[in-house]
Amino acid sequence: MKRIVDEHYFTYSAYSALTPGIQVKCPRCRGLGMVTADKGKACFRCLSCGHQMTRDRMVYRYNVHNQCKNCGRYYRVDIEDETKQRFPALHVACPYCGTAMSGEVHKTAQKCFSYDAEIQDGKEPWFGLELWFLDAFQGKPVWALNREHLAYLIRYLSADLREKPPGILRKTQADHLPTFMKTAKNRDRIVKLLKKMQER
Ligand SMILES: [Zn+2]
Ligand SMILES: [Zn+2]
Repeated sequence: MKRIVDEHYFTYSAYSALTPGIQVKCPRCRGLGMVTADKGKACFRCLSCGHQMTRDRMVYRYNVHNQCKNCGRYYRVDIEDETKQRFPALHVACPYCGTAMSGEVHKTAQKCFSYDAEIQDGKEPWFGLELWFLDAFQGKPVWALNREHLAYLIRYLSADLREKPPGILRKTQADHLPTFMKTAKNRDRIVKLLKKMQER
């Protein structure tokens, strides 16, 4: 009988996978690339064509705050338009009375992008690149962040007995898995699909 003790909830999250790296498809050559990150930056590097990208993990917020010279109220208007964010000052309308006047554009560091980022539509959250290990089962995406994560999924789903890891955390890695992957009737076919992915 195959037995597995499940991993903790964050072991294979999009965030923790940044240390070993998330394996993705290069947008230029479709070859294998890696997304990694440190505190300040996320990096993409293609292992076949050498294409590279970086992005600042800090997210900034731009706004103008003013006291309206018509109605006297204080207001703050967020500047969402990226082309306008570059200007030192902008004309904005008072949200209360509509009087437009010029105000200084303030830039504030909002948060570090992003500790709670999730995989969506088989794409990693930093550059929106498609995962290397991605397939579909009955129209639903089946994916792994990297080779270690893929091996875990196979180990977990092919075990006969699954146990929670010791400790106080109630959520485990398996809580990330959608029900269709864990359902007994699909499990064998999902494992087969995952093993096929391993050949990539
Ligand atoms: Zn490439
Ligand atoms: Zn006003």
